[in-house]
Amino acid sequence: MDNDRFCLTCKVPLAADDVAIYLKLVSRTDRKFLCLDCLGDKLKCGREPLEKLIAYYRQSGNCSLFR
Ligand SMILES: [Zn+2]
Repeated sequence: MDNDRFCLTCKVPLAADDVAIYLKLVSRTDRKFLCLDCLGDKLKCGREPLEKLIAYYRQSGNCSLFR
C-alpha cells in the first residue's frame, strides 16, 4: 500500500487499513477511497463498526487485504 492516498470526500490522508476496508466492503477495483468517517456516513453505520471490522479481519488473518 502506498501512502499518498487521500479521502475522496474530505481529503484526509488514508491509512492502509482505511483503504483495505474500503476495498473489502465497497469495491475491490476502486482506485478512489474514503476515510473511515466518510465511509461510515456512506454506509450509514458510523466509523465504529468499521474499526471493529478492521480489528476482526486483522485478527483472523484470513483476508489478504489485512496483513
Ligand atoms: Zn473522508
